[in-house]
Amino acid sequence: AKAERKGGFCRFEGWMDRTLADRRALERDLRLAVERRELEVFFQPQFACDSLRVVGFEALIRWRHPERGFVSPGVFIPLAEECGLIVPIGRMVLEQSCTLAAGWQPRCRVAVNLSPVQFRDTGLLPLLSEILHRTGLPAALLELEVTEGVLIKDEDQALATLRSLKDLGVHIALDDFGTGYSSLSYLRRFPFDGLKIDKCFVQAQQQDSGTRTILEAVLTMSQRLNLRVVAEGVETQEQLAMLREQGCTELQGFLLGRPMPAHEVPDFLARVTVE
Ligand code: C2E
Ligand code: CA
Ligand code: CA
Ligand code: CA
Repeated sequence: AKAERKGGFCRFEGWMDRTLADRRALERDLRLAVERRELEVFFQPQFACDSLRVVGFEALIRWRHPERGFVSPGVFIPLAEECGLIVPIGRMVLEQSCTLAAGWQPRCRVAVNLSPVQFRDTGLLPLLSEILHRTGLPAALLELEVTEGVLIKDEDQALATLRSLKDLGVHIALDDFGTGYSSLSYLRRFPFDGLKIDKCFVQAQQQDSGTRTILEAVLTMSQRLNLRVVAEGVETQEQLAMLREQGCTELQGFLLGRPMPAHEVPDFLARVTVE
């Protein structure tokens, strides 16, 4: 199969390049990886745009394959979604993230990516309340990052799920804003606490004044709607300066901090100022 561009100008579904046999092999390995606990959660810091204090971390999964080496989540998450493995994988990420975050000093937010498959799983709500209860992490310190993929199929159902998640007390951010069909009206219609501007968008604004104009409009509207805006993929001082000037709330990117293994987080937190 040929690679297909899906949902925007810079998102490739990497596994589509592979032959069927390749995918079967990868799927078998992924099943084993789950059993052998080869999947590990890394954490990337997020910073307040004005003070550059740490406000939280995003949990990002990593797979250390014994022979293939490091396999990117961009490759295996779509595959896991297709074969259903995303449910046990997602559960593991939620459990590890909440357990670890409950022990961080000082406490700060942890953001966990939620696949549309997990979002539609009826087991999600009981799972979340059980994990929050067991780990003792205050619900307000957990943010779930969802993509517009959860919204398109059945808007009423999506709205009902988002409301019951909000009732639990967790926060919800709309991820990858600026790719796909993300519509500004989603921000008004659904109860999001924040949105994350995709790195393609952050990185395009420098060369492209049209992108910059859209970004300004999104930031202005978000302020009116009282939404936090996290810009991701911030790699340069120029991008940082521009985002600050435009009133962005939070920043995430290689310029300020790369994803790190969980065991490095406590030291990191001891060295920085936390909001
Ligand atoms: P995402 O949610 O948009 O995550 C942000 C991605 O941008 C991460 O890639 C992160 O490492 C990368 N990134 C952060 N700062 C920079 C930067 O300054 N420059 C560049 N070029 N990249 C930056 P990663 O870790 O490879 O994850 C890729 C995608 O895989 C994620 O995109 C997310 O969609 C998915 N993913 C990762 N972990 C999970 C998970 O636990 N569950 C689910 N459902 N999806 C996950
Ligand atoms: Ca994310
Ligand atoms: Ca994103
Ligand atoms: Ca993305």
